[in-house]
Amino acid sequence: MERIQMYVNGTWVEAKNGDVIEVKNPANGELITTIPRGTEADVNEAVRAARSAFNQKEWVMIKPHERGELLMKVAAKMKNERDELAKLETLDVGKPLTQGYADVDAAIRYFEFYGGAADKVMGETIPIEDGMIDYTVREPVGVTAHIIPWNYPIQIISRSVAAAIATGNTVVVKSAEDTPMTANKMTEYFHELGLPNGVFNHVTGYGHEAGAALCSHPHIQHITFTGSVPTGKTVMKLAAENVVPVTLELGGKSPNIVFSDCDVEKTVETVVRSIIQNAGQTCSAGSRLIIEESFKDQFLEKVVSKFESLKIGPGIEDSDVGPILNKKQFDRILGMIDRAKSDGRLITGGERVLIKGCENGFYIKPTIFDEVPYECEIAQEEVFGPVLTVLTFKDEEEALKLANSTDYGLVTGIWTSNINRAHKLAHSVESGQVFINNYGAGGGVQMPFGGYKRSGFGREKGFIALYNYTQLKNIAIKFQ
Ligand code: NAD
Repeated sequence: MERIQMYVNGTWVEAKNGDVIEVKNPANGELITTIPRGTEADVNEAVRAARSAFNQKEWVMIKPHERGELLMKVAAKMKNERDELAKLETLDVGKPLTQGYADVDAAIRYFEFYGGAADKVMGETIPIEDGMIDYTVREPVGVTAHIIPWNYPIQIISRSVAAAIATGNTVVVKSAEDTPMTANKMTEYFHELGLPNGVFNHVTGYGHEAGAALCSHPHIQHITFTGSVPTGKTVMKLAAENVVPVTLELGGKSPNIVFSDCDVEKTVETVVRSIIQNAGQTCSAGSRLIIEESFKDQFLEKVVSKFESLKIGPGIEDSDVGPILNKKQFDRILGMIDRAKSDGRLITGGERVLIKGCENGFYIKPTIFDEVPYECEIAQEEVFGPVLTVLTFKDEEEALKLANSTDYGLVTGIWTSNINRAHKLAHSVESGQVFINNYGAGGGVQMPFGGYKRSGFGREKGFIALYNYTQLKNIAIKFQ
């Protein structure tokens, strides 16, 4: 496999210190490639290039629809190379191939959506008094920083970078040290398609080195960070030093609230999919099942049977459940499972699965804990693995209390045929997205996405995300 390089000012570069980081295949632990271990010196150069490209105004001065056309060309290129991109994402992250394809398709949609929106970001005219015109314009903020997590690299790069570039900003991306492959491919596309030098820059490296240097750089005007709560707090502190806004997309402990009048088969299928997708390594994983007490046994029986029928194995074979990213994540998950054994009742899974030929991959049997008190760790903290926690309620009031009982508030699923109840709950749950009788809504890139509480703030996806990358100017004119 080719070595990956960083991309600064239209040129492929190594880290100034010559150091590299190894990237391994989660399916079997084999080395895939190496990336430069970028540090502050490399980040400084990338930000300088982005700043200089912004100041030259070439990108911001071209017609907005022409910026959009370039994004559309990226989308078309991705469509042509869909197979290669999906395989790369699977190789790098470990996820089943079908999920690799779904991620590539969503990434394509981001480029199409924001490409189409580039010439539709408008201001307002505001009535003041006769003899005056007052209007607003939305201007790009300047250089935007994008810090990417390892679990959905192609989607997460695409969702913020496409919006930032569409609105005339210049960007610096710091990809995740474990999963840089599709970020590198996207970089190749920008290069081939003739994006002006310095508009898109890609640095690689560790978070505490390259990531921290990027977030604390004084010439960055906005940071989009997607990752864990502790790192999000660090990023926010770094941003505060330079008074720079941040969009924080953090973790979750998302519930599926299930009533006995739900469509059972559909609900079982989605509850299972929402937690096993990407082996549970998903910010919006449906990691809590909050279910009507009297209905639990019959529903859970079906969920357990589905869990036990799932095929576990390498993503490239398109199994249902792929590997955990690496040993560090695996140990963390098994530690939480072990501690949970004294809090709740383990009803399936809870152990490592060894796959022949992939003995150095870390696979975990999909796991369910029942009879869990809501305040214990497994019901409160993000596991980031295929672990479902079951809680029960007697009435709507208790369901709501349980749903809102964590520090997180990313996504909530509500399953019932009683539309009044569904609406009432949807309005009361503390959650950035609510799905009634579905979960994920086909991955719709048009839907604003982001957290309540510690799941973060600011919204990505949808038209509203374009405003992250613009600043509003008010202009008042008095007739002479
Ligand atoms: P992480 O916080 O460890 O790392 C995320 C990124 O931040 C990586 O690129 C890392 O190198 C970088 N980083 C680490 N330390 C840094 C520092 N001091 N300064 C700047 N950057 C730094 O998260 P992760 O393990 O890569 O991802 C998993 C987490 O991301 C989970 O909590 C998950 O819920 C969350 N996530 C959220 C969303 C969302 O949209 N809400 C999407 C995907 C993942």
